[in-house]
Amino acid sequence: MTDPIRIINEKCVRCGACVRACPFDAITQADRKSFPVIDLQKCTLCGACVQACKFDAIEMRESCAPLTDLSAFRDVWVFAEQHEGRLHSVTFELLGEGRKLAQSIQMKVCAVLLGHQVEPLSKELFARGADRVYLVDRPDLAHYQDEAYAAVLVELIRRHKPNVFLSGATTVGRSLVSRVAVPTRAGLTADCTGLAIDPATGNLLQTRPAFGGNIMATIIAPNARPQMATVRPKVMKEQAPDPTRTGELVVEAMADEIVRARARRVRFVPEVESTVSIADANIIVAGGRGLQKPENFALLRQLAETLGAGVGASRAAVDANWIAYSHQVGQTGKTVCPKIYFAIGISGQIQHLAGMSSSDIIVAINKDPDAPIFKVATYGIVGDLFAIIPKLTAAFQKMLAK
Ligand SMILES: Cc1cc2nc3c(=O)[nH]c(=O)nc-3n(C[C@H](O)[C@H](O)[C@H](O)COP(=O)(O)OP(=O)(O)OC[C@H]3O[C@@H](n4cnc5c(N)ncnc54)[C@H](O)[C@@H]3O)c2cc1C
Repeated sequence: MTDPIRIINEKCVRCGACVRACPFDAITQADRKSFPVIDLQKCTLCGACVQACKFDAIEMRESCAPLTDLSAFRDVWVFAEQHEGRLHSVTFELLGEGRKLAQSIQMKVCAVLLGHQVEPLSKELFARGADRVYLVDRPDLAHYQDEAYAAVLVELIRRHKPNVFLSGATTVGRSLVSRVAVPTRAGLTADCTGLAIDPATGNLLQTRPAFGGNIMATIIAPNARPQMATVRPKVMKEQAPDPTRTGELVVEAMADEIVRARARRVRFVPEVESTVSIADANIIVAGGRGLQKPENFALLRQLAETLGAGVGASRAAVDANWIAYSHQVGQTGKTVCPKIYFAIGISGQIQHLAGMSSSDIIVAINKDPDAPIFKVATYGIVGDLFAIIPKLTAAFQKMLAK
């Protein structure tokens, strides 16, 4: 069978049930005397026609057919993202969420840890909620690489069949998970802000903003396993560590041909920043188009350095090349949840709010009293930022000097 799906004319009675069942208008039938025809350009291999045909007249290549035995897939897996032996905090957030999901379907929470000489991190993963850690420890996995990491994860998924697979929607997570989802035929939903289990079906309910953040869509993957989701850092609460917790460490062997990659890491060039990364900052001082030119970000940096804060930016400022993309907050940037967020010369469009509105305290500084940012602000200052910021910085410097 060369095509992924075909109609077996010898069995087909030309009833047209498959045409009616196809949600993608991918099957046509000229008249009741003709056999239906599948348009492979439109077909998504969802399997609706196979289920609708009472005569077993539609055949799908085995590797493309919807899964029939979903019960073979067990446990909630969390990709334990680490860099130079330090776990990314999103791993702890996902372990916390993973525990809640796993408890509701009576399954285990497992962390998947890849790297070199990273075994000590398994203790931290147990303390944060993992029941089991799958460890692949090899020198060629010391640094993250798409190809090798994806190949190892695909192999582990084939070996152990997880029901749910969660990863942070970080640069690494976004790049990795899409490569894993295709060969494992997982159902993948990116950038989820909410996860739950449907008690009636056991399906993972994956909620994420859609249509520019105007609606929240809940997505299910009822015919695919694992159910895969990426979640942005800081959207979910971290599981507090319990150092008394222990778990099972499963060391997995991996054949060399699986880990072999075509790309080679030459060197790592860290971004040089005088202020804290916004992903870790408790205070963020963010600027937008109101700053007028890149040099004016120096004003914000001064305030940020005084407060030990990170510097954030709106997309308008990033698109204008005033500051690097790694500083962008919002729907297509980072989601942040600091204790204090200063929004300076930022209007507060919905795509920006999507990344910062859960901050504990929001201080907005804008010359337009009707700017939407004031609707979410805890404190608002209406005025010219060029007059306000130097005074604010001087006042904080004076206070902190005491
Ligand atoms: C699909 C999509 C994804 C997007 N993703 C993001 C995202 O991730 N993050 C993001 O930020 N945006 C995102 N945007 C863009 C978003 O819609 C806005 O265009 C952007 O946030 C506007 O940035 P801003 O507030 O800096 O600029 P503006 O909307 O131009 O606001 C500038 C503000 O500065 C004020 N101002 C001007 N001068 C002064 C002064 N001297 N003193 C005080 N205040 C002053 C003005 O009153 C104004 O309110 C996205 C858009 C789309 C369509």
